[in-house]
Amino acid sequence: MNDKPQTCFIGAGAMAEAILCGLLENTDTRPHQIRVINRTNTDRLRELEQRYQLLAANDKEETIRQAKQVILAVKPKDMADAIQQWGSCIHSGQTVISVVAGIPTSFIESLLPQPTAVIRAMPNTSSMIGRSATALCKGQYAQQKDLEAAVRIFSAIGSAIVVEEDQMDTVTGLSGSGPAYIYYLVEALEQAGIEAGLSRTVARELTLQTLLGAAHMLVETGEEPAELRRKVTSPGGTTMAGLQTLAEHRFEEAVAEAVHSAKKRAQELG
Ligand code: NAD
Repeated sequence: MNDKPQTCFIGAGAMAEAILCGLLENTDTRPHQIRVINRTNTDRLRELEQRYQLLAANDKEETIRQAKQVILAVKPKDMADAIQQWGSCIHSGQTVISVVAGIPTSFIESLLPQPTAVIRAMPNTSSMIGRSATALCKGQYAQQKDLEAAVRIFSAIGSAIVVEEDQMDTVTGLSGSGPAYIYYLVEALEQAGIEAGLSRTVARELTLQTLLGAAHMLVETGEEPAELRRKVTSPGGTTMAGLQTLAEHRFEEAVAEAVHSAKKRAQELG
């Protein structure tokens, strides 16, 4: 058995776990091909190694040097320190994949000792259950094959789509923050149902199944959302009354403003 790591994660947090779990469950990656490095050998690292039967990275520098792909999964505030700490072990024969929100590939490239292929990915929190919507882009030294390898990794935790780097902040505003918008909509629907006389349990069940059903209708029929909406909206009917009220309360503008504000915030952090 070749024990050389294929993929080395820097950062042992929730995102690293989601990706490595997806790789193990949905690709032919085996546990001995993955290593995880943390700032210190915390309980968290041991927990991950035990849960997924990973080999420990005893010599951290050498482990990073040997990996084909190095996945940076630290918080944005720790990114510069992490690259300072480990960057000297990274070389031009590897691909660096960053999931760190808001950090441009040029920043990472500028801190690495050699011109290195850098891929930036923006997954979302649904990666925890293998349902992420991930957007990826490549830096100046990365080739198409590096991008394709990264797409394969993120396809193991949901869908993966390639964009230009200047679209990444918009992606953050849309799919990065998107799950929270949907949770907000669910809260609002549930609360409205409760206020109109339903029990919490009934309101929750109906709201969740409505959300799931609508998502499946979109995916499985492939129809335009506007067309599906038109089909369920009879003139003078109940749905039309509800939709008109949403329009009067500037539903579309509120959603557009939410995406815009989150994008602006991502630009400020970057
Ligand atoms: P987390 O705080 O759970 O994990 C970060 C880990 O990095 C910690 O284990 C920490 O000890 C480790 N770390 C910090 N500095 C280090 C260093 N110098 N060397 C080695 N390890 C170091 O964070 P997370 O939720 O896993 O998020 C990681 C990144 O993923 C963030 O940058 C975030 O922007 C991005 N991201 C997360 C999500 C999400 O849904 N959680 C979605 C999109 C992007």
